[in-house]
Amino acid sequence: MKVLFWLAIFFLVVVPSATGEGIQVSWSPREMEQGDILLVRVQTEVADTVVEGSFDKTPLYFYKEGETSFTGIVGVDMAAEPGPHSLKVMLKGRGVKPREQVFSVPIAVGEFEVQRLTLTKELVDLQGEILKRYLAERKKITEIFKQVRPLKLWEYPFIRPVSGEITSTFGLRRILNGQERSPHNGVDIGAPKGAEVLACNRGMVALAQELCLEGNTIIIDHGFGLYSIYMHLSEIRVKEGDQVARGACIGLVGATGRVTGPHLHWGVKLLGARVDPFALLRLGTPEG
Ligand SMILES: [Zn+2]
Repeated sequence: MKVLFWLAIFFLVVVPSATGEGIQVSWSPREMEQGDILLVRVQTEVADTVVEGSFDKTPLYFYKEGETSFTGIVGVDMAAEPGPHSLKVMLKGRGVKPREQVFSVPIAVGEFEVQRLTLTKELVDLQGEILKRYLAERKKITEIFKQVRPLKLWEYPFIRPVSGEITSTFGLRRILNGQERSPHNGVDIGAPKGAEVLACNRGMVALAQELCLEGNTIIIDHGFGLYSIYMHLSEIRVKEGDQVARGACIGLVGATGRVTGPHLHWGVKLLGARVDPFALLRLGTPEG
């Protein structure tokens, strides 16, 4: 029953081949928009198959879910060009006729909110020492996100790191003093200072330090280029290199960095794409 439901939700494509054996490629969600996470399932008939692929120019990493079933995961950046994108699936391996299939996956514009703010110039523009520090921090973080650990550390489902109301949505377009700034690349969850922040899944701590704008920040590497980010913490309870379990307390909610009040900024990066953390929570569920 569950399997039928699953197939109904996935967009299923059966690729016939000359030898009569068919591979099945399906993906979810059916209607994708900017900031979504794309799950690609490939069902083959030969156990020794190696499945590879790409989404636009980003290589896809597939993990095995059964003898002949493989899942790949990739993010659609919040600013990805709306329109058709190409999903390529390649099969090879011992006793497998190498094959390649390209599918067109349409991406719709994300329905993001708009916020207009007026702030003093000092709060908007970074200068001098603080700018230098900011750029050095960006460099370090960019290097972290470039690493793709060829290992899936997570198990479904992902969990919300803290309960509370969403005070700022993902993709929110921020217009500061009439100028469009970078959109909000995470969700802000309003929670009291000192509330426990939980790891959304199993992973390895890639960064645990104070940053000039983001305050006390933790980045967890979940493998396959998937990272979760936690900002503005009042306290950090892990250190770089630590292994954390899903649901482990990694720190406490705070108001460190450039913020007006206590909240958790929770972000997710997947193979370089800024994706909606709530898309992670949907993975591995019937809607996923
Ligand atoms: Zn935020």
